[in-house]
Amino acid sequence: MHDVLVIGAGLAGLTAARALTHAGQRVRVLEAAPQVGGRVHSRVVDGFTLDAGYQVLFPAYPAAQRWLKLDTLGLVPLPSAAVIRRGERADVVGSPFSDPGALGGTLTTRALGLGDKARVAALALRLRSPAPWTLLRGPDETTEAYLRRFGFSEAALDHFFRPFFGGIFLRRELDTSARLFRYYFRMLLDGGAALPAAGMGEVSRQLAQGLDLSLGVQARRLTPHAASVTVETSAGDLEARHVIVATDPSSAAQLTGEAAAARGHLSSTYLHYAAPAPLDRERRLLLNAGPGLIQNAHWLSNVIPERAPAGGHLLTVTVLDLPDLDDEALDARVRGELARWYGAAGVATLRLLLTERIRHAQYPQPPEYASTLSGHATRLPGVLLAGEATSMSGIQGAMESGEKAAAIILGDPAGMSRPRGA
Ligand SMILES: Cc1cc2nc3c(=O)[nH]c(=O)nc-3n(C[C@H](O)[C@H](O)[C@H](O)COP(=O)(O)OP(=O)(O)OC[C@H]3O[C@@H](n4cnc5c(N)ncnc54)[C@H](O)[C@@H]3O)c2cc1C
Repeated sequence: MHDVLVIGAGLAGLTAARALTHAGQRVRVLEAAPQVGGRVHSRVVDGFTLDAGYQVLFPAYPAAQRWLKLDTLGLVPLPSAAVIRRGERADVVGSPFSDPGALGGTLTTRALGLGDKARVAALALRLRSPAPWTLLRGPDETTEAYLRRFGFSEAALDHFFRPFFGGIFLRRELDTSARLFRYYFRMLLDGGAALPAAGMGEVSRQLAQGLDLSLGVQARRLTPHAASVTVETSAGDLEARHVIVATDPSSAAQLTGEAAAARGHLSSTYLHYAAPAPLDRERRLLLNAGPGLIQNAHWLSNVIPERAPAGGHLLTVTVLDLPDLDDEALDARVRGELARWYGAAGVATLRLLLTERIRHAQYPQPPEYASTLSGHATRLPGVLLAGEATSMSGIQGAMESGEKAAAIILGDPAGMSRPRGA
């Protein structure tokens, strides 16, 4: 019999399994998919390394610092500035402190007025000093309400915050909790964003190293007994003293019967294009502040040439939600929008590698959502929840939830009482 069975090899399950294995527990991880990582994985298509969708690591995440060997992940820092695209117009906006290349553009950009530039600096000053986790406390409101109270203009919201933070929270409406906005802003200030050269899947691979893992095994039912739990799986029954359910929120609700674990879906769609030559030398993220489906686009091979085979270049385009268009029609719409940036002849050289529709990328996190979070306990004795349903919909949230479930099993008071975001 195992001490602990962990269901789900996403970042939550892998972190829980690592913490427990470190502490000497006999742990096995069951994963329904053929690979580890859940939403954080990469694969090679025609020689191009594609992440699941487009996501980045904030190296300042405290849980990432505790559990990842960041120096061996092959992290490539991303420029901290971004380019605001409105048709043919391109303005650089960003932090000249961490990206000297952005200085000229940021001071002269027409995307932000003088007052808004001063307010960005004031916001950074305000959010820089408190302990980051405390930014998840205090009064809550929408991100838009918070930014308006701070005095930001309509133009700043439309030309910078909606395109940029809309891509992080997958909600251009800026109706995500302002506490989360403040926390993520701080994470960016403290460590910027980075990508492992070999793909975000490296994060999961590193966490999975040395663990006892069964891939392609789906957990179907949990039956608690006096001192153990039986897990009915697609590969037969297994028994353990404890079970950690570290699946996506909907599967967690199904397995445990905890309705609060189900948290709804934010969806997003990605188009990965191969190009024989880059249509743009820009290394920064391109934010669409104009009309259209494109939320953002990134010439990933301009930052990480290894993501493309020799002579190839990689562009990944993010579209929010799941547009009601078939792949061909969606590709045509996106090409039409890219043609406003690069001209039709350049866009005709792009070859679509993959269209990826991700139904559950994150869950909605409106103001005060934290007060409705599921705890780790379930009504099933011996069964604990991990996964973002207990915390934040992101890498820090997933990892800290795994840590906490492990701390509960280990009876580790410091781990159990660590605040969210710390
Ligand atoms: C496109 C995209 C962009 C994102 N951008 C960012 C970002 O920039 N920054 C950030 O911090 N976060 C981002 N996120 C969110 C972040 O990736 C997730 O919050 C986090 O990875 C969730 O981890 P998890 O372990 O809780 O869940 P998951 O990754 O969903 O893992 C759950 C695992 O459980 C498995 N499973 C489910 N049911 C069963 C079962 N019955 N039996 C066995 N296994 C099962 C699944 O196959 C899966 O592997 C993004 C996510 C996506 C998809």
